[in-house]
Amino acid sequence: MATHAGGLTADHPAATVRIRSLVRSFGDRNVLDGLDLDLGAGEFVALLGRSGSGKSTLLRALAGLDHDVTGTGELGAPDPVAVVFQDARLLPWKRVLDNVVLGLDGPDPVARGRAALAEVGLAGREKTWPVELSGGEQQRVSLARSLVREPGLLLADEPFGALDALTRIRMHVLLRRLCARHRPAVLLVTHDVDEAIVLADRVVVLAKGRIGADIPVDLPAPRAHGSAAYATLRERL
Ligand code: ADP
Ligand code: MG
Repeated sequence: MATHAGGLTADHPAATVRIRSLVRSFGDRNVLDGLDLDLGAGEFVALLGRSGSGKSTLLRALAGLDHDVTGTGELGAPDPVAVVFQDARLLPWKRVLDNVVLGLDGPDPVARGRAALAEVGLAGREKTWPVELSGGEQQRVSLARSLVREPGLLLADEPFGALDALTRIRMHVLLRRLCARHRPAVLLVTHDVDEAIVLADRVVVLAKGRIGADIPVDLPAPRAHGSAAYATLRERL
């Protein structure tokens, strides 16, 4: 993707995401105020920040859904960009498999859609209606719909925020596995510091319209909540 949506223009063709001086204002308030952000290929970055700090605004800009941003930037290789929201946003009048393959290009979309559903643990549910699925299952379908397109960049806006704690942990395991296999760059917005630490290679914090903290997560697996290294990292966030 050479040029980006809105006022962004390309200047670093090799980067996966390399955004510079991103500005988005609503009225006279700059919600994003000269923000810089880099994402390496295959890197999993969690984005923290208070409610209203502009996390969703940033994701919309990166997704190319906002035509009123300015700045320079590049979404390098990641075509297509996939977006997962807190609600799965399935089309209720289409069955699960049809949701996954809707608009999917390339050879044998149905077989690829079935494989994607199997990957998220929903083999055999192809003909189910979305309303018959739990929230966690709907979010699995949403992940399958994204990953079957082999995105270079996966943007996720509090994807597990509406799920119960146990389902959330199951989704963490699933997402790690899917990302290890498909290797998209990921920017995952979350309120949950533990979710950020468990999932991400790097945690960034959005404050005052910019990336205020940028902290690598270098913990031995498994990332046990009780470990001293975990506690030290958590203190910093
Ligand atoms: P977050 O996702 O971090 O909670 P948002 O990106 O949704 O925050 O919003 C950041 C700020 O921008 C908030 O103050 C919000 O009210 C404002 N904002 C977001 N979208 C709009 C819009 N379409 N019109 C006016 N203000 C908006
Ligand atoms: Mg938000």
